[in-house]
Amino acid sequence: MEGVSREIRLVARPQGFPGEDLFEVAETPIPDPADGQLLIRNAYFSVDPYMRPRMNDVRSYVAPFTLGEAMTGGAVGQVVVSRTKAHPEGSWVLHSLGWREWALSDGSGLRSIDPSVAPVSTSLGVLGMPGLTAYYGLFELGAPKEGETVFVSGAAGAVGSTVGQMAKIAGCRVIGSAGSEEKLAWLRELGFDAAFNYRERKPREALAELAADGIDIYFDNVGGDHLEAAIGALRARGRVVACGSISRYNDVEPASGPRNMFMVVTKRLRIQGYIVSDHFDRFGEFYEQAVEWVGDGRLRYRETVIEGIEKAPHAFVGLLRGENIGKMLVKVGPSE
Ligand code: NDP
Repeated sequence: MEGVSREIRLVARPQGFPGEDLFEVAETPIPDPADGQLLIRNAYFSVDPYMRPRMNDVRSYVAPFTLGEAMTGGAVGQVVVSRTKAHPEGSWVLHSLGWREWALSDGSGLRSIDPSVAPVSTSLGVLGMPGLTAYYGLFELGAPKEGETVFVSGAAGAVGSTVGQMAKIAGCRVIGSAGSEEKLAWLRELGFDAAFNYRERKPREALAELAADGIDIYFDNVGGDHLEAAIGALRARGRVVACGSISRYNDVEPASGPRNMFMVVTKRLRIQGYIVSDHFDRFGEFYEQAVEWVGDGRLRYRETVIEGIEKAPHAFVGLLRGENIGKMLVKVGPSE
C-alpha cells in the first residue's frame, strides 16, 4: 500500500518528570504484508503509567524501551490487508505494537475485538487490561466481603474507577482519592460513598474523618503517603492490593517507604503485589462479567481521548499530571 505511517519513538531517557522532548515523530513507508502477515490501521492506542518506569534504563519485570524505536503498548485497529485466515480484512484486533498509525503483525499476540459488543476503544480500558487489573486485584487479592470498607487511590483513573464500582457491586462501602474537584464529582456520580482531593487534604487526615472505624481493603495505585495512611487506617487482617505506585515513578532516588510498617505485623495485614499480565488466563471470565455490568449500567466508564499521533507525548505527560478522567487514549485513525 502506498503512503506514509507515522510513529512515535523514544529518543532520550527521562531524569525525573518526563518532557515531551523525549519523543520524536518519525515517518516510515506503510509496510506490505507478506504471507502470514496482516496490516492494521490503528484507531486508538493507549498511554499507560507503566510506560514511565520502562523508560528508565533499568530492567524490572520487563525490559526497558529501546531508544530510537517506536513505543510499544496496547493499540486497537482494523485489519486492512490480511494474508492470514485468522483475521479477515475489516475485522478489529487488539495488539501491542503501540504508538503508530499502521502496524504490521504476524498474528502473534492479537486478540479479536467484536465492535458490536462495545466501542473498540473499551478494549484498551474498561473491557481490557485496566479492567482485568481492577477485577483480578480486587476480587482475587482483596477478596471483598459485603459490608467491608474499601479505599482506592487514583480513583478517577482507568483502574481506580473500575475498582470502586466493582467494590460497590460487592456490597462494600467505598472511599476514593483523586486530584481534582471535577474528579470527585464523577466519583460521587459513580456511587462512591466518600471521596477526597489528596492535593488539598493529607490522606491520613481524610481517612481519619471518612473512615473513622477503619478500612478493610486498600487498593493502592499511588504508593507514598497514601500507602502509609492506609496502613494506619487498616483494621486487623486488612488487605493491601499493591497495584501501582504512580507517586514514585518519577523519583530519581528511591524514597523511603511507609514509616509504619510494624503495623503490618501488629494488625496481621497482607500486602500483595501483582502484575496483570501473569493473569491473562482469567481474561475470559473477567470479560464476560464486565460486559454484563457495562450493559446493565452498573459499571460505567469515561475516556479522555487526545486526537492525533503527534499529540501522543502530550497525552502521556498529561496522564502523569492527572489530566485524564478515566482511560487516557490517543486517537490516530478512523474508528467503527
Ligand atoms: P490512571 O488512569 O489512573 O492515570 C494515572 C493517574 O494517576 C492520573 O490521572 C493522576 O490522577 C494519578 N496520579 C499521577 N501522579 C500522582 C501522584 N503523585 N499522586 C497521586 N496520584 C497521581 O492510570 P491507570 O488506571 O492505567 O493505572 C493506575 C495505577 O495502576 C498505576 O499505578 C499503574 O501503574 C497501575 N497498574 C498496575 C498494573 C499491574 O499489573 N499491577 C496494570 C495496570 C496499571 P490524579 O488527578 O488523581 O492525581
